[in-house]
Amino acid sequence: MARTILIISGKGGVGKTTTAINLASALHDLGKEVLLVDSSISTPDVGIHLGAPIIPVSFHHVLAGRARAKDAVYMHSSGLRILPGSISLQDMKRARPEGMKRAIDSLRRSSDFIIIDSTAGFGKETLHAMESASELIIITNPELPSVTNALKAVKIAESMGKAVTGVIVTRQRGDKTEMSLRDIEEMLESRILGVVPEDSKIKEATAAKDILVQAHSRSKAARAYKEL
Ligand code: ADP
Ligand code: MG
Repeated sequence: MARTILIISGKGGVGKTTTAINLASALHDLGKEVLLVDSSISTPDVGIHLGAPIIPVSFHHVLAGRARAKDAVYMHSSGLRILPGSISLQDMKRARPEGMKRAIDSLRRSSDFIIIDSTAGFGKETLHAMESASELIIITNPELPSVTNALKAVKIAESMGKAVTGVIVTRQRGDKTEMSLRDIEEMLESRILGVVPEDSKIKEATAAKDILVQAHSRSKAARAYKEL
């Protein structure tokens, strides 16, 4: 049975999708059976990051009751299995987040890890994604607005009885204006699992629709993701 790990932050633009893709890919490279799920109904971007934005059957179709979850799983050219969303507005309107847990549970037998990317905020789609996961990894940048939203994620997880495995601090530049790791750890009362530095190779990988840990495997950020 797969460990189902939700990547969540509260705030947008902190590096959730980048982290979900690179952790999933690094685990795949270690020989694990991995499935990467895009749980975002409103802004699914895993498919866009991986260069497969238009697909016939997506997670949205599953959530609309129009397809089985296993029929929306695709093999990326890297060998990683992905369950992407649809970018169509109509599909967005039809998808019902209530079906998320059941769909993800139906795929647990065939994987070691299911890594679930999530959307910003704490709307219905995020809460159902939290329900669907057995554990949560919180993503934050080392600055107060981001950590404050991460704290909200920790509190909601607690109220739902979901385990927070820890926190990944991303986009660390190491300048004086940033919050220290100790302050972040104290504020979130959660363990910091690792730190991913600000790295221009991430933008290069995204622009080329490559996966960082594969295309720039020796970059600083790729090394951090592989260690994680
Ligand atoms: P989210 O999914 O939380 O909205 P993304 O993973 O899409 O965040 O990242 C937001 C932006 O930040 C993207 O342009 C991405 O390329 C960039 N980014 C993410 N992590 C890093 C990093 N460590 N260094 C530099 N840029 C990063
Ligand atoms: Mg994202």
